[in-house]
Amino acid sequence: MTRQRGAAVGDYRAPLFVAWQLTNRCRCRCLHCCEDSGPGRGTRIGGSWPEELSRKESLRIARDCVACGIAYVAFGGGEPMEVAHFWDLLEVLSKGGVSLKIETTGENIGRPAARRLALLGVSSIQVSLDGPTAAVHEALRPGASFRRALAAVRLLASHGVGPEVVFIPTRLNVRLAGKVYDIAAKAGARVFATGPLMRLGRGARAWATLAPSASQWARAVKALKARAARPSGGPKLSVYPFGVQREIAARLERPQAMVLIAPDGKVKLLNALPYAPADLRRHTTAEAWSRCLKAWRNPEVRGFCRRAVQDPSLLAHANECWGPC
Ligand code: SF4
Repeated sequence: MTRQRGAAVGDYRAPLFVAWQLTNRCRCRCLHCCEDSGPGRGTRIGGSWPEELSRKESLRIARDCVACGIAYVAFGGGEPMEVAHFWDLLEVLSKGGVSLKIETTGENIGRPAARRLALLGVSSIQVSLDGPTAAVHEALRPGASFRRALAAVRLLASHGVGPEVVFIPTRLNVRLAGKVYDIAAKAGARVFATGPLMRLGRGARAWATLAPSASQWARAVKALKARAARPSGGPKLSVYPFGVQREIAARLERPQAMVLIAPDGKVKLLNALPYAPADLRRHTTAEAWSRCLKAWRNPEVRGFCRRAVQDPSLLAHANECWGPC
């Protein structure tokens, strides 16, 4: 799950923050996946973005990010750590002074990877943990391993990386949020991050059976806050305040200095919106940024955003790619 952050948009020459969805491939097929990722997705196989960027194209974009002075790049997917050129990108960006964030299942984090991430100074590594037991975690995340996710959190903590545990609330696990917090605390997580289930991708299609009620979510947040306030301490609690529709409304009002790079190099305004005003196969990062700023002012985009805030059926287009507008 990709959570998007950045500063308010202003007179920037380039975005401050880039969310880079490296691939659509993933060994998991999570019931709530907002990107529709899974095995058999991605390059030449199928999926939303069949022509994923090559190593050469990706490295060129990474160098361009450095040259533009982009402050922060967050890698998500699919599973970014299973992309062959993942480490090469990290090297280029880290040497260029770009802060790095990775969202991962943790499946690929053994001792060598933990050491390498520590040496690269990655500032945030988010590992998904959706239950306090293998039965719950793996029911929500078919193909994932509870044991390996927890081992990754422990390893990262022991290497001083300060792992973050991400918990996605659904009807199946929302009442267990506090127990997952406790497990994350014991494993050495620095942050426990959560937020409302995103009504996107498979999460949107399973909304009727998967989404927790507002009162269940409110109880979970209360339980988490109580745990985070205990004198014995624990991971810093970070609760993202917006559901997808509120996020669209907020960004419409005040776009952020961020863009999302899709696996095929298209540049999207937001993961919840289908608009992709630029393509990094044809445009530089600076050009892409200026096209995104223009798109946020476009009446068609603004009209779609206003309708999507009222009508969740429009969110079904989130993983499509429309444009340039
Ligand atoms: S691990 Fe993440 S990217 Fe992969 S299917 Fe699950 S939610 Fe989607």
